Parts: sequence; structure tokens; C-alpha cells
Amino acid sequence: PALHKVIMVGSGGVGKSALTLQFMYDEFVEDYEPTKADSYRKKYFWMEKMYKLIFLIQQVRKIMQQLGTIILGVEKAFYVYFLLRRMKVFKQHKSLVAVLSIMEQILRVKNDENIPFLLVGNKSDLEDRRKVSFQEASDRAKQWRVPYVETSAKTREHVDKVFYDLMREIRAR
Ligand code: GDP
Ligand code: MG
Repeated sequence: PALHKVIMVGSGGVGKSALTLQFMYDEFVEDYEPTKADSYRKKYFWMEKMYKLIFLIQQVRKIMQQLGTIILGVEKAFYVYFLLRRMKVFKQHKSLVAVLSIMEQILRVKNDENIPFLLVGNKSDLEDRRKVSFQEASDRAKQWRVPYVETSAKTREHVDKVFYDLMREIRAR
């Protein structure tokens, strides 16, 4: 079976590992170990066909240096940010520029019209500490023409949705 690659990009601490582990093992991981780079594999069957997924987790800052080796075969990119701090992505667009440039390169390598991209706002359970409103984030996502989902790796809110939507999209290719 083909190996489908997904990259998850986002700053350290936003919950990339926690989201992936919650989805894969139904566990919420409290320990904070900022992600340098890690990857998780998942195998699953759908209509008697086997799919293999690999999630590559990267910090925005690091990803640019390693693009060449990881983008080949990428099917989807998540950009995870958290709602608790006003990220540059909503101000100077600095980390957005990095993400868009990643998308551009994926597009070039894969020669694919649809840039599979998803903006994820994580830690939705910490509502009282929210600094970015749902409206603002989804307006921005609309402007970029990407779907926007808010998740909580702690309560599991929309975690399955994010990953199942992704798998459905991959199967449709
Ligand atoms: P990463 O660097 O993006 O991989 O971040 P982690 O997945 O390691 O998460 C950083 C910290 O935030 C950890 O202590 C997690 O337990 C916590 N965390 C991650 N997601 C959530 C969430 O949705 N809600 C809450 N309350 N904490 C979260
Ligand atoms: Mg991590």
C-alpha cells in the first residue's frame, strides 16, 4: 500500500504531539517535551484496502531547512497553532509566509492543483485563556481558502474529525 505522508507544522508547545497521540492511542499526554521532530505511523483498513499514514511533526522554524527531504509524497499539511497567544500568524504573517512557502514547494513537487492544507486551532478547552477569537481565525482561514477547525487534545473535541476528514481526503485521491 502507498504510504501517505502528512506534515504537521507549528511552533513548539501548541499540541502537535498531544493531538496525534490522542487520536492514535486515546491518551492525553501532559508532559511537555517540545517537539524537535518526531513521526508516528498508522495503518488502517477501509473497504478491504490497507492504508498507511505517517505523520511528520515539525516546528515551523526547522522545517524550512529540511524541506527537500520531507516533502516528497506529502499529502496533507496541518498548521497547528494555539489559541492562547496571539501568534505572528495573525499579525506579521511571518510564520504564515513560511507555511505558504512550504505549500508552494509541495505544489511544485507534486504538481497538484489542490493544496491540501488545514488550519487547526488547538487547546479549545482553555476557553478563558483564549486570545484569538473563533471569528478572527475563521475569517483568516477563509481568506486563505483553507478549512479551519478548533480542537482540544485534552477533551478530544474535534480530534477524530480532523484526522478522519484527512483520511477521507487521502482515500479520495
Ligand atoms: P508540541 O510541541 O506541539 O508537540 O506540543 P505538545 O503536544 O507536547 O503539547 C504541549 C503541552 O500542551 C503539553 O503539556 C500538553 O499536555 C499540552 N496540551 C496539548 N494540547 C492541549 C489541549 O488541547 N488542551 C490542553 N489543556 N493542553 C494541551
Ligand atoms: Mg511534541
